[in-house]
Amino acid sequence: MLSQRIQVLSESLTMAITAQARELKAAGEDVLSFSAGEPDFDTPKVCQEAVIKAVQSGFSKYTAVPGAPEVLEAVCVKLKRDHGLEYKPNQIITNVGAKHSLFNLFQAILNEGDEVIIPAPYWVTYPEIVLYSGGKPVVLDTDEKSGFKITPAQLQAAITPKTKALILNTPSNPTGAVYSRSEIEALGEVLKGTDILVASDEMYEKLVFGKPFTAVASVSQDLFERTVTINGLSKCAAMPGWRFGYMASPIKALNDAIKNLQSQSTSNICSLVQKAAIPALLGQADDEIAIMKAAFEKRRNMAVALFNAIPGLSVVSPDGAFYLYINTKEIEPDSMKFCKELLAEAKVATVPGAGFGCDGYFRFSFATDEVSIEKGIARIATFVRNYK
Ligand code: PLP
Repeated sequence: MLSQRIQVLSESLTMAITAQARELKAAGEDVLSFSAGEPDFDTPKVCQEAVIKAVQSGFSKYTAVPGAPEVLEAVCVKLKRDHGLEYKPNQIITNVGAKHSLFNLFQAILNEGDEVIIPAPYWVTYPEIVLYSGGKPVVLDTDEKSGFKITPAQLQAAITPKTKALILNTPSNPTGAVYSRSEIEALGEVLKGTDILVASDEMYEKLVFGKPFTAVASVSQDLFERTVTINGLSKCAAMPGWRFGYMASPIKALNDAIKNLQSQSTSNICSLVQKAAIPALLGQADDEIAIMKAAFEKRRNMAVALFNAIPGLSVVSPDGAFYLYINTKEIEPDSMKFCKELLAEAKVATVPGAGFGCDGYFRFSFATDEVSIEKGIARIATFVRNYK
């Protein structure tokens, strides 16, 4: 009954674990969940007010497929203000979350067998979307030694005549690694003279601790021309359920193709959500976002110290996002086994590193309150102490 195409897809591991933890909780178990990839903060007030106004003013018709003119303009203002990037409104397309932006992008660019370079650990969805689009993920392994970042030599060695794109994710989910301007510049040098696109997923750009964030497209004219910037409001404006993502690229043929795809599939994203996004894009929620970021930084510091005090575990302090990627290799290289037992015995939900293409680790989200974090890590410490 099913197409061959659909059978390459598997369920998102993060969503599966979160659902399992939710079921255990519903059955009365005292489960602490650190698996979700969403902030525990509420949507900024200005965005809430904007959507109420949009509802009351009857902003309920279809909009243009890529988005209403005012939201496309707001994305341009944001990219200019934050990164000095000059895009025109017709170079922006809004999507049903950044996941949808990536889906549209790879559907639009990949032919059967085209290769996409994906640094690991990677966000679970990248290889799945590439496979579904007929492409071949080419995974580049990284570890603590390189700060979980790929090197120019690694990139150079991975390029073949079939390479269509490179995915960069800074700050990274799951490691929190942030590429510096000079690191991006060096990777850009390797791409010079090729026709390889960069899909730059910058979902966590506002959550960088004590370091500057560099947008890939802002590093050089060459990178600007080959980069599709992907972003959204799920993480940095605490609006995951609203489903607002966008893509920015100067490549007209690509934009036109994606607009066609979207016009024949989802059409415009929810009109009301477009209105809600505008204040966040214009920086009117920055005060609330700063409070959230400060809370994440404090929790990061606390959680890193607590984990590194547990014999057998180690973690590099992440520069961004809200995850720790914890090394368990000393006690258990099989992350599925570790995480399953951790959930069954200690009632703590985390995500196995295997899902991110890098076994021997688990991901711990600190987008939850400090009391739960302390309690959860204490349970993990006991579990690890008794681990056989
Ligand atoms: N990119 C990364 C790196 C993510 O971690 C996520 C969400 O987990 C997304 C994209 C998708 O975000 P959205 O909610 O906008 O679809």
